[in-house]
Amino acid sequence: MANEFSIIDKYFKPLGEAIASPNVVMGIGDDCALLNSKPGHQLAVSCDTLVAGVHFLEGADPEDIGYKALAVNLSDLAAMGAEPAWFSLCLSLPEQDEVWIQGFVKGLASLAQQYNLPLIGGDTTKGPLTVSIQIAGYVPNNKAITRSGANPGDRIYIAGDLGWPYLGLMLLNGSEVDLNGNASEEARRQILKPNPQIELGLALRGVATSMLDISDGLTADLGHILKASHVGAKLNLPNISKALPLRSMDKHIQWDAVNFGDEYKLLFTVPAECIDVLERIESELDCSLTCVGEITENKTLIDEQGRTIQAKGYQHF
Ligand code: ADP
Ligand code: MG
Repeated sequence: MANEFSIIDKYFKPLGEAIASPNVVMGIGDDCALLNSKPGHQLAVSCDTLVAGVHFLEGADPEDIGYKALAVNLSDLAAMGAEPAWFSLCLSLPEQDEVWIQGFVKGLASLAQQYNLPLIGGDTTKGPLTVSIQIAGYVPNNKAITRSGANPGDRIYIAGDLGWPYLGLMLLNGSEVDLNGNASEEARRQILKPNPQIELGLALRGVATSMLDISDGLTADLGHILKASHVGAKLNLPNISKALPLRSMDKHIQWDAVNFGDEYKLLFTVPAECIDVLERIESELDCSLTCVGEITENKTLIDEQGRTIQAKGYQHF
């Protein structure tokens, strides 16, 4: 049976060394990693934890767990307009199952390679299966896109179709969902392997006035922007359901689906005069951006007919 140190040497050290970065002076192996800062830039740092039975099903494929753990962290960088720099990994495992670790590292490695993101350190302990990742990215000084910059008159956009992860979880839980083969494959992919929208986040620097990634659900996350920016919003509900994969679904299910969360799609605001720039970004990055409403001075959340919308979304406690 391999011990903690041989696991680190065999699986985690190579993942750090495989990705060359001029900013990593010393990676895995000492008491601390030594990292260079990048002149003229700030570090955007975030941490996300995935717990078995809460964020993924017990017995889930380790490759999917590794992929998603890194994807949700990358999504936080995307949401600030940050360029991926490095990550560290704290892993708690019930037993040293090498087959599990191999699969897990494979999932991590696919995204780490794609974004040239070296693993620079971490901790390995015995305990209930928990994956905690800290990630850092670079943003030019004062160019980060925060939640607090939305202004009345700004348009509200979503990148991509909401609702797939809701359907994906139903499928994983074995519920009856009437989806064709391609749709059920897409629903599963989105809940298991969400795409972090890094390139879009970078393209929106200097364009978006506020931004976040949808993890808790549309109205809950929009609520974070409204609170931080001291504004309200008018949502165009027909436009939102246009963004749904399944337009034939019952209205209540559609509403639950857009508020389910676990999407990792960017929600952002732009001044009305920047809409042309969005069209260019949309064609250059081959993504789909949907306007779902407008920021208002009045600090309420209403629909296109002026009716109050109750924010809802996932809460842990
Ligand atoms: P320490 O006793 O100083 O905490 P460890 O024995 O925990 O050191 O770790 C040894 C080295 O391996 C350190 O550089 C640490 O960052 C790295 N490391 C430990 N666990 C992981 C992991 N899961 N992923 C990446 N690096 C790790
Ligand atoms: Mg340690």
